[in-house]
Amino acid sequence: MQLVRKLIVGNWKMNGTLPEAQSLIRQITADKPWPKNTDNPPLVVLCPSHPMIHPVAMMLDGYDWLTIGAQDCYTQDIGAFTGDVSAMILQSLGVKYCIVGHSERRRLHNETNQVIAQKILCCQKRQITPILCIGETIDERNKGATSAVLEQQLQESLNFEVTNVVSSLVVAYEPVWAIGTGKIPSKQEIIFAHQHIRKIIMQHHLYRRITPVILYGGSVKPDNAAEIVCGDGVDGLLVGGASLKASDFRNIIAACIQ
Ligand code: PEP
Repeated sequence: MQLVRKLIVGNWKMNGTLPEAQSLIRQITADKPWPKNTDNPPLVVLCPSHPMIHPVAMMLDGYDWLTIGAQDCYTQDIGAFTGDVSAMILQSLGVKYCIVGHSERRRLHNETNQVIAQKILCCQKRQITPILCIGETIDERNKGATSAVLEQQLQESLNFEVTNVVSSLVVAYEPVWAIGTGKIPSKQEIIFAHQHIRKIIMQHHLYRRITPVILYGGSVKPDNAAEIVCGDGVDGLLVGGASLKASDFRNIIAACIQ
C-alpha cells in the first residue's frame, strides 16, 4: 500500500516581525520534529505575510520537508492594483502553495466565491497549488446547513473552464466557528465533511482527474492533532495560532507521523 504524505500548513496570518519569523524558523528546524527513521515524513508549508515570503523562502531552501506558501493572491496578474500581490509575483518568489478564500478574507474583505474562483484560476496558471478554505458559520451549522454550504462554496469556487491548467488542489475544511475559538467538531463530523467534500470534487467535471488533498483546520493543537489527522480521509492540517509557537507546531508535525 502506498503511504500518503500528510500535508501541514502553518498560516501565520499578520503576526510577527521578520526577526521573530527567523527565530521561529530556526526553532522549528533545530532538528527534525519527528523520531528518527520515519519513512513518510509530512510536508510542511509555511505561509508568512507577503513581505516576509522572500526571506522565509531563503531560509527554507534545501529542506525536503518544508516549503513556502502565501496567504492570498489577487485576481489579476499585473496592473494598477495598489497594494495587491499577484500569483505571478508569488511564483517568481518560489511560492508553491497559496491559501485562497480564508474565512477572514471572506468576512473582512467581502470575498465572494466568484472572486475566489478567479484567484484559484490565477494560482493554477502559475503552477501554485491553491489551498481553498471552506466551512460553515455557527448559524449555518445550527440550521443543519453544513453540507449544503460546503457544496455551494465548492461548486462556485471551482467554476472555471480551465481544463488545461487544473493540476492540483488542496481544500481545507475550516468550520468558521472553530477558527481561533478552541472548539472543534467531533471526529465523526470531520470525517463526514471530508467525505462530502471529496465526493463533490470527484463529481466535478474539471476536477475529477486530480486527487484532491483535504485538510482540517480550526483550533488544531498538539493535544488534538493526532486524533484529527488519523481520521479517514483527513490528508493533513491547516494550523493558525499553534503554528506561531515552535514547540506546539513541532508537536503537531510529530503527531502527523502515523
Ligand atoms: C486558521 O485561521 O486558518 C486557523 C486554522 O486558525 P486556528 O488554528 O488558530 O484556529
